[in-house]
Amino acid sequence: MKVILATQNKGKISEMQTLLADMGIEVIAMDQAGDIPEIVEDGSTFYENAMKKASTVAKATGLTAIADDSGLEVDALNGQPGVFSARYAGEHASDQGNYQKLLKELQNIPSGKRTARFKCVIVTCKPDGRCISAEGVCEGAITEMPRGKQGFGYDPVFIPRGSQKTMAEITKDEKNKISHRGMALRSLKEQLKGFLNDL
Ligand code: IMP
Repeated sequence: MKVILATQNKGKISEMQTLLADMGIEVIAMDQAGDIPEIVEDGSTFYENAMKKASTVAKATGLTAIADDSGLEVDALNGQPGVFSARYAGEHASDQGNYQKLLKELQNIPSGKRTARFKCVIVTCKPDGRCISAEGVCEGAITEMPRGKQGFGYDPVFIPRGSQKTMAEITKDEKNKISHRGMALRSLKEQLKGFLNDL
C-alpha cells in the first residue's frame, strides 16, 4: 500500500519510511505525486495545520496522505512561539536566529520559570475525508545558553525533563525515544493498520 507524505522535508520522509516499512507501507514524497495546490499553514493550532495539509493532499492525489505539524510552546511567553516556531525570528529565519530570539525574550526569566514543551501532531486522511490523528508531547525547559550540535531547530536550547543534556547533545536514537515526534509516530502506528484496512 502507498501513502503520500505531505512534506518537502527529506528528514521527515526518511524517518517515516523507516517507521512504516515493516507494515508493508510505501511512503512516497509529495514531489512524486504531480500537481498539488499550494497549502498555506495559517491554522492557530498544530492540529489545524496538520489537518489542512493531510486533507488537501489526500483529495488532490486520491491517495492516503500523512502530514505533521510541530513546534515549541514556552510557558513564560504564554505558549509562543507555538505554530510560529519555524518563523519566530522572521519569514526565512535560521534555526540559530529563532533560538537566539527566544533566549533574548527569556533573558530576565529565572531558571525555575523557563518551562516549555515540544508538541507534534500527525494527521492521516483518506481521499474520502476520513482522518485519524496522533499527538506527542515532550516536556522540558529552556537553557540560558545554546549547547550541542545534533538535531535541529530549538534542540540546542531545550533540556528534556529529567535530563542534564540538551536535545542537541544526545544521539538521534536517544532523541527518538523521548521526543514529541517519536511519541506521535508510535501512537499513529498503533492506529494506522486498522484505519488503512477499514474500507
Ligand atoms: P514543522 O513541523 O516542520 O513546521 O516545524 C516547526 C518548527 O518547530 C521547526 O522549524 C523547529 O523550529 C521547531 N521544532 C519542531 N520539532 C522540533 C524538534 O524536534 N527540535 C527542535 N525544534 C523543533
